[in-house]
Amino acid sequence: MTFSDLGLRAELLRAVEAQGYTTPTPIQLKAIPAVLEGGDLLASAQTGTGKTAGFTLPMLQRLADGPRPTKRQVRALVLTPTRELAAQVGESVADYGRHLTLKSHVIFGGVGQQPQVDAIRAGLDVLVATPGRLLDLHQQKHVDLSKVEILVLDEADRMLDMGFIHDIKKILRVLPEKRQNLLFSATFSNEIQALAGKLLDDPAMIEVARRNTTAELVDQAIYRVDREKKRDLLAHLITEHDWQQVLVFTRTKHGANRLAEQLSKQDIPAMAIHGNKSQSARTKALAAFKTGDLQVLVATDIAARGLDIEELPHVVNFELPNVAEDYVHRIGRTGRAGSEGKAVSLVCVDEHGLLKGIERLIKRDLEKRIEPGFEPDPNAKPEPIENGRGKRSGGGGRNGGQDQRRQGQAAGQRRGGDEARAPRRRRGGRSGSRQA
Ligand code: AMP
Repeated sequence: MTFSDLGLRAELLRAVEAQGYTTPTPIQLKAIPAVLEGGDLLASAQTGTGKTAGFTLPMLQRLADGPRPTKRQVRALVLTPTRELAAQVGESVADYGRHLTLKSHVIFGGVGQQPQVDAIRAGLDVLVATPGRLLDLHQQKHVDLSKVEILVLDEADRMLDMGFIHDIKKILRVLPEKRQNLLFSATFSNEIQALAGKLLDDPAMIEVARRNTTAELVDQAIYRVDREKKRDLLAHLITEHDWQQVLVFTRTKHGANRLAEQLSKQDIPAMAIHGNKSQSARTKALAAFKTGDLQVLVATDIAARGLDIEELPHVVNFELPNVAEDYVHRIGRTGRAGSEGKAVSLVCVDEHGLLKGIERLIKRDLEKRIEPGFEPDPNAKPEPIENGRGKRSGGGGRNGGQDQRRQGQAAGQRRGGDEARAPRRRRGGRSGSRQA
C-alpha cells in the first residue's frame, strides 16, 4: 500500500515524497481514509507513530477539495498541549501543504502576541494553537473561529492532564456545531472517554499497536544504583560509552536545572528545557541538541512531550516518572522510525514501586544491571520521592502497582510535578511566561 493508493492529491504526494516517506505507517493507513470520508475519528496513537501526517494530510486534502470561501478564514483548528508540539505540527502542516495554496500559522503563549495577531489578520486556513493563547486572542476578538470545519485535538490526554479542559470547553462553545472532529490520545482514561462521548459523533475508532508492546527496537535496561550516585553513574556511562546525543529525563524542573549544571561542570555539555524556560531558550537548546552541538538535553516530561528528534540514540531516565505511562512516552523518543535506540533508567531503592508499576504496564521485566564501581548499598532504606514542589510523596513502598496507581490518580491534578501548575497560574491573569 502506498500513499497514492490512499487517494491523496498529487500536491500532497509530492510533499510526502520530498519528506522521504515511501510507505504509510499503520496509523496513516487507517486514519487517512477515515478522515477523507469526513466523519469523526477517535484514534489511540502516540508520538512516533506518524500520527501527525495521519491527520494533517487528509485535513489539507479536505480543505483543498472543499469550496473556497471568498475571504480566507480559519477552517481547520489543531489544538496541542505544548508549544513544542504546536511548533512541530505547524511545521508538518507547512511541509505537507507546500504545494497547495492554503495558509497556516502556529500560535502559543510565552512569546509576543502581535506577530500572531498580524498573521491571523492576514488570513489563514489552518490554525495550530495551544489552548491558552488561542482563548486569549479569541477573547480579544483577534480570531474568528465561527467557520471552523475541522477540529483536531492532538495529545488530548496530555491536554487534560495539564488542566486545559476548561479552556477546551470554552473553545468548543465558539466553534460551529457542524464540523469534523478528530481526537488523538495516547491513553483512554475515563476523562478522555467522557470528552470523546461529548465531542464525537459516531466516530471511526483507530488503535495502533502501542509502543509499549512494540518497542522491540528499543533496548531497555535498568541500572540499580544509590540515589546519591546517580549523577556520577550518568557521567560515567556517557563518557565510558561515548554517547553523543543523550536525552535525560528528570522529574522536576529544579532537578533538570541542577543536573544540567552538574554535567556541564564535568565537561559534558548539557542544557535543561522545561516550562519555566523562555521559548527562545527552549528553541535554542533543542536546535543545538538536534544538530549534535549539544551532547545532553535534560528535560521534564511535559517539556519533552512531542519533541521530534529523529533517530535519537539514547534516552536516560535519571529518575523514573511518577506515572507509568510517561515511561512509555519517554522511551518513545528513541528507536523511532525504524532506528535502534537505547533507553536506560537509573533506579534507586526509593523507586522500586514505580519500577514494578512500569513493568506491569509494559508487560515485561526489564533487564537489571549493576555497573562495577556503582554497586548499590543492599541496606539502603527507601525515602519518599520528591514531587517537585518541595514536598515529598510516597513511592518507595513495596506494593509497587498500588502506589503507582495512587500516584497516577493524584497526578491527575499535578502531573509532571511542578509544571502542571502552569495552566492554573494563567487564570489569575495574562502572564506572558505561561506554559502554553
Ligand atoms: P509523529 O508520530 O507524527 O510525531 O511522527 C514521528 C516521526 O515519523 C516523524 O519524524 C515523521 O517525520 C516520521 N514519519 C511520519 N510518517 C512517516 C512515514 N510514512 N514513513 C517514515 N517516517 C514517517
